[in-house]
Amino acid sequence: MDLELTEELRLLQEAARELAEDVLKPAAARADREERLPAEHWRRLAEMGFFGLLIPEEHGGTALGNDALSIVLMEVNRACASTGVTLSVQGSLIPGPLVKHGTEEQKRRYLPRIASGEIVCAYALTEPEHGSDAGAIETTATRKGDRYLLNGRKAWITNGASAGLLLVFATTDRSLGSKGITAFLVERSGSKGLSAGKREKKLGIRGSETVELALEDVEVPAENVLGQPGQGYKLALETLDGGRIGIAAQAAGILAACLEDSLRYARERKQFGKPIAELQAIQWKLSNMAVDLEAARHLVLRAAWLRDAGRPHTKEASIAKLFASEAANRAATQAVQIHGGAGYCKDFPVERYYRDAKITEIYEGTSEIQRIVIARQILEP
Ligand SMILES: Cc1cc2nc3c(=O)[nH]c(=O)nc-3n(C[C@H](O)[C@H](O)[C@H](O)COP(=O)(O)OP(=O)(O)OC[C@H]3O[C@@H](n4cnc5c(N)ncnc54)[C@H](O)[C@@H]3O)c2cc1C
Repeated sequence: MDLELTEELRLLQEAARELAEDVLKPAAARADREERLPAEHWRRLAEMGFFGLLIPEEHGGTALGNDALSIVLMEVNRACASTGVTLSVQGSLIPGPLVKHGTEEQKRRYLPRIASGEIVCAYALTEPEHGSDAGAIETTATRKGDRYLLNGRKAWITNGASAGLLLVFATTDRSLGSKGITAFLVERSGSKGLSAGKREKKLGIRGSETVELALEDVEVPAENVLGQPGQGYKLALETLDGGRIGIAAQAAGILAACLEDSLRYARERKQFGKPIAELQAIQWKLSNMAVDLEAARHLVLRAAWLRDAGRPHTKEASIAKLFASEAANRAATQAVQIHGGAGYCKDFPVERYYRDAKITEIYEGTSEIQRIVIARQILEP
């Protein structure tokens, strides 16, 4: 694998960086404070084609691949992690499985509207009682003629209140365990019985919308099953392999911001008559961050490259997510430390990075779950 970016990817990176610097970064503190993203962020991400990076050209995307999406995600998250998670769901968690498992009719119906940003997407797997143990979900899908009726509750759903299209996982037969789970494409419009609860008040990524969902006799046409009935859990995990690369990219982006801001502050801030950057204790922190960033970027791009090449990448995606998320948290802690008291208040963005970094160790599989996935892979004969 060649980690030198192709000309196409380099240009994409430049474009993403420009958007991040000019539009996302200046609005990030306000989005955090007001707990909502400006509509302009969504519009600009759509205009730049960032929702269509996994979508084939005939359905309105560019199909540049997971490496392209990872590069864009690193730049976007460097500026605003709330925007980053929104892009990750819209650009990967829904179009990824739709492209792979969708019928021609499903692709034709949804992919162009996802790429253009016309419909907001959400991925609804987690439930109040089933997070890490997602194979035990209790939301039911009962077949009634040519439709299914969905009943249950989903928790922590990113973009759940705004979404026009939700990928909902439900069980058609609990006695089959995870093999009874099916994935459904649920359109909000016309779906009576689908309602969003309160918006969660979060530690970080506060600009992103996170809600609980209630499903009461939500009617879904049988043709909206994504993939095969009973194959939903497999589809969910396969999708999360891709999503985890996205969260690893998010963590790498936050890490990059921590390093960049720390370098600037360490050069400017003087103590004992010289910039603190000249103190070895500070230099070591900066060096550690630089090493972590380099390693995280490589792990992200390697996992993305394997996924794009159609090669096994479950272990690599988990390794990338585990390493990058823990590295981002180390870096955020040290970035606050380097800023001293200034890092502990909202005048400097490192305070936000510190809060935003934490989620990368939790969603799309906690660090504990990543270690379980990696152990399973390396212990396999
Ligand atoms: C901001 C936010 C956005 C989210 N967005 C979405 C979304 O869009 N869609 C969606 O479906 N979900 C979403 N989630 C849910 C997220 O994926 C879950 O929170 C996560 O998988 C953990 O589940 P849990 O919170 O129920 O924790 P639990 O599973 O209850 O875990 C609690 C603790 O126990 C540990 N633990 C659990 N099982 C094991 C084990 N076997 N071995 C060792 N340790 C274990 C965990 O690592 C953790 O430390 C989101 C969550 C948040 C906070």
